[in-house]
Amino acid sequence: MARLLLIVADSTEARQAAGFGQRLGLPFDLLVLSGEPPLDLGAETAFEAGLPELPVADGLAEALAGAAANYTHLAAVSSMRSKDVLARLAGLIDAAMVTDAIAIESPTRFVRPVVAGSILATVDVLAMPVVITFRPSGFGEPTLGGQSARSTLALSPSPKSTRVAVRAKSGGRPDLSQAKVVVSGGRPLKDAATFEQVIGGLADALGGAVGATRAAVDSGIAPNELQVGQTGKIVAPDLYIAAGISGSTQHMAGIKDSKLIVAINKDPDAPIFESADLGLVADLFEAIPAFRTEIGR
Ligand SMILES: Cc1cc2nc3c(=O)[nH]c(=O)nc-3n(C[C@H](O)[C@H](O)[C@H](O)COP(=O)(O)OP(=O)(O)OC[C@H]3O[C@@H](n4cnc5c(N)ncnc54)[C@H](O)[C@@H]3O)c2cc1C
Repeated sequence: MARLLLIVADSTEARQAAGFGQRLGLPFDLLVLSGEPPLDLGAETAFEAGLPELPVADGLAEALAGAAANYTHLAAVSSMRSKDVLARLAGLIDAAMVTDAIAIESPTRFVRPVVAGSILATVDVLAMPVVITFRPSGFGEPTLGGQSARSTLALSPSPKSTRVAVRAKSGGRPDLSQAKVVVSGGRPLKDAATFEQVIGGLADALGGAVGATRAAVDSGIAPNELQVGQTGKIVAPDLYIAAGISGSTQHMAGIKDSKLIVAINKDPDAPIFESADLGLVADLFEAIPAFRTEIGR
């Protein structure tokens, strides 16, 4: 019988993921890798893996392969990390894979963007099991209620080929992929100190995350992990502020699910104004300090 396992990092991601689970229309279980599993998301069983931190991809994929046997569908919220893990999992269990699903037409038919989001492809899955990553903004808020059975699923991931040590660099800012507010800057920010002062300062004033274009990353203005777009992170905040960003198709591919896009650009013909909900034709070095003075932060 068809059955879904939703694999999520923590309870916050579980709430993002549950809309997909509910809309797929199959009975589903929830596996929360770290922390407490929510019990009101419609899952039949909410498994707690109790991992103190998320392991590297190869060991985690191998551990998940052992838990995959009862499921026809295994799915996770799209992110660089989930694609890294789930692609390995698909290889290990000989599964089909669909990435970045944004709509479900049936349990074997999904819609996903290609060519930087300018084309929507309909993908038919011809063999089971299937491993899926999806963009949660396409599936809306889950209906809360019910009470999942709670269980423990012991995973024993061991790093196979890599060992990773991480340290926070961004001074407690929210995660870019999950932030409600994102402030991004482009090439005109000149250097890392200016970027941090102008873009980082506005992000902190609004409690948001910081993003950047590839041009800003390639020029050494912003670190690589802040890149938003086709070859960077996909974001879907309530508010996306793009300062000094021209609006290339590759950048827009990463932000088009944002609820409100505000563009600040001194060129009135910049392409970003075609997609922005609000546009300000202005020099960002004047507009952003003026805005911060106005809001008193
Ligand atoms: C295969 C491929 C993948 C790519 N992937 C990505 C990706 O993931 N993400 C991404 O971002 N790009 C990506 N790119 C690069 C993309 O094509 C653009 O080159 C890049 O997005 C442009 O960045 P930008 O808007 O910062 O710079 P520019 O295009 O140079 O635009 C700068 C803008 O700032 C405005 N401006 C200048 N000074 C000011 C000022 N003082 N105040 C206000 N506005 C000002 C200008 O009018 C201009 O519109 C990719 C390209 C390729 C080929």
